[in-house]
Amino acid sequence: MVATLDNAREALRATFGFDDFRGRQHEVVERTLAGQSSLAVMPTGAGKSLTYQLPAVMLEGTCVVISPLIALMHDQLRSARANGIRAATLTSADADWRETQDAYRAGELDLLYVAPERASQPQFRDFLGSARIALFAVDEAHCVSEWGHDFRPDYRMLRPLMDAFPEVPRLALTATADRQTRGDVLTQLGIPEDGLVLAGFDRPNIRYTIRHRDNPVRQIATLMTERPGPGIVYAQTRKKVEDLAEKLAASTGREVLPYHAGLAPETRAANQAAFVASEDMVIVATVAFGMGIDKPDVRFVAHVGVPKSIEAYYQETGRAGRDGDPSAATMFWGAGDFATARSRLAEVDEDRRNAERARLDALAGLVETPHCRRAVLLRHFGENPPETCGNCDNCLDAPDLTNVTELARKLLSAVYRTGQ
Ligand code: ADP
Ligand code: MG
Repeated sequence: MVATLDNAREALRATFGFDDFRGRQHEVVERTLAGQSSLAVMPTGAGKSLTYQLPAVMLEGTCVVISPLIALMHDQLRSARANGIRAATLTSADADWRETQDAYRAGELDLLYVAPERASQPQFRDFLGSARIALFAVDEAHCVSEWGHDFRPDYRMLRPLMDAFPEVPRLALTATADRQTRGDVLTQLGIPEDGLVLAGFDRPNIRYTIRHRDNPVRQIATLMTERPGPGIVYAQTRKKVEDLAEKLAASTGREVLPYHAGLAPETRAANQAAFVASEDMVIVATVAFGMGIDKPDVRFVAHVGVPKSIEAYYQETGRAGRDGDPSAATMFWGAGDFATARSRLAEVDEDRRNAERARLDALAGLVETPHCRRAVLLRHFGENPPETCGNCDNCLDAPDLTNVTELARKLLSAVYRTGQ
């Protein structure tokens, strides 16, 4: 085992040029090399890709990677190839299927990226059976769980596919999983409970602030001055996105572009590309924006209105400061936000509604707390953080308790006004 990890360090240097593993990467790599299945829960930017790419290089056979978005796969493909890893994708966007299939059969691929909808095709199973599979890697594994925030039914077909190759280890990866989602991912993908590797969630360079919203345009314009550089503003509806983008551009003179699912695909792609390339642009977006975007120098993430859970908040704010430099996560909320969110739950079926309501209540706890925000966040993810962090609004500027009581009163009355 020790020898294996030494070999892994050597391969890490040779392939990626890194001196050492980060966080708990080495545990995941070690388990995988030993043929054990794992669920790695690590924050965005922790380096999850490496935990399957390195074994893929070291083990005999191909690592089959399931990934939910074609854009995400093509990014991964580019960076893997840049490191000299033999990688290919099989997606509807690829024209070179025949070459890729031949390379797989000849055992000439380290990594093969596929979309989850392939999993249910019997021909695909036969094709996979035609060569040696080193490992199944399931990226964004929370998509398999209805409790996760991004359920994709196709992920449910992965278990039967992987069960057809019982000797092949499985590695599921995600950045967001509360206890319930975690348990569900383990069951749905057939990974033993002791395969869970839960890594640190703290993002010490992010300053968490949660404020009451009075004038969002002015409040965000101020934030833009305090945190010059690229920023993401999340708003709840397409209309609010458009409106905010326009007003922010007018009031700051900065480049501010909208992003939401109602824009033409070309506009969306162009705005995203402009943002990724820019050093000072602000993008106003619905939650449709962000998955798989690797922009390290985002200086702030702002929320106008409340996200739907602590997981969603953590994932969205986690797009700030991936380069480790000081960054801000600032939420501007109103008491009515929770009432609106709760009334939306009336349309959700009953089983799910209770879970969603619990999530919203947990988020309300974070919004309302007079204590360290980071501590509340990290406890939510099962960690045992210090009482104070010194880098959130409550630690930096202990709230006036009369005021907190008033906010709590407003919040509670807003929450219960919906009568459910
Ligand atoms: P995740 O999927 O967990 O969000 P990625 O796999 O995209 O993260 O990795 C984030 C960044 O961290 C990448 O630029 C990657 O090259 C870098 N990285 C990963 N592991 C290491 C390491 N051991 N040392 C230094 N950088 C690393
Ligand atoms: Mg990733």
